[in-house]
Amino acid sequence: MILNYTSFDLLYKHPFGVSSNTRTSTTSVFIKIDFEGRTGYGEACLPAYLGENVNDTIAFFELAKPLLAKYAKAFSVTEVVIEIDRLTKQNNAAKAAIDIALNDLAGKLYEKPFYDLMKFGKSEPMSTSFTIGIDEESKLENKINEAADYNILKIKAGTKDDKSLINAIRKYTDKPLYVDINQGWKNKEEVLDMIFWLKEKNVILIEQPMPLSMVDEMAWVTERSPIITVADESIKRFNDLQVLNGAFSAVNIKLMKCAGLMEALKMIEFSKKNNIKILLGCMAESSCATSAMAQLMKFADYIDLDAPNLLKNDPFYGVTYKNGKVFLNDLLGIGVEPKTDLFKI
Ligand code: MG
Repeated sequence: MILNYTSFDLLYKHPFGVSSNTRTSTTSVFIKIDFEGRTGYGEACLPAYLGENVNDTIAFFELAKPLLAKYAKAFSVTEVVIEIDRLTKQNNAAKAAIDIALNDLAGKLYEKPFYDLMKFGKSEPMSTSFTIGIDEESKLENKINEAADYNILKIKAGTKDDKSLINAIRKYTDKPLYVDINQGWKNKEEVLDMIFWLKEKNVILIEQPMPLSMVDEMAWVTERSPIITVADESIKRFNDLQVLNGAFSAVNIKLMKCAGLMEALKMIEFSKKNNIKILLGCMAESSCATSAMAQLMKFADYIDLDAPNLLKNDPFYGVTYKNGKVFLNDLLGIGVEPKTDLFKI
């Protein structure tokens, strides 16, 4: 197998994020793995807060090249992914790119979409949440109007002004909300009071209300919470899920955190067995990695897969969006095609 990569800046349609951290672009490193006349595509999405950068990611791909090159005949994606994972402790986004490309390649070699290759079948279209970046209240009405197609809105909160923010949103829309606190709240009694207040405002779920370290407090909140509590920063990989079982009622699985589709499937299996709800999420991926994740929609209770719609220069065709829902296609592998010749190699 031969691996090539290229880095590419993804530009947001609108500045994205809360006012203190407004972002206009992010970088992904795209890879292709060629084998027996077929090509699998993958993506490592590298938003700054993830702590992985382009140089480290490229260094990881160079490390993986000889390992992949030794596969000259049939290969098992599961085995290769385990070997790749052993190369370093970190680099989850880079590992995800290789896992995605291998699964795309396997689908093309066996001439099946990934969901058929894995025998769980194609998911019906599902409503995704759509994140509205909130900078100032005067722009809120516009932002909500721009999200008119979507059935669920997601907002980033976690300040002292959260009640006024929600009240302001409720002047313009009564759509269900997902609220992401990004570890912003510290006092468990106040957190629970806020959650009860949010439930009255048609908030469906609350993501990562408290810091990573506050596991016991989080378990106390989850036990009493009338809405779903979702772990995001607290659970990156499968082992975190086992350790934190009970502290949240749901997990936000993202390919860039968990190192790819194979581990995401393990996390899904564990979650189903242990009555943990599943949110499939994303960072700022293009249609490449988002289409890979969408293959698993069938297992999701909730999805937050809006990233391609936030971009103005998405280099891939993949999943499509209509009436706020994500639609899978019938293409082989993860269901993507590059729009341009990304790899001028
Ligand atoms: Mg989050």
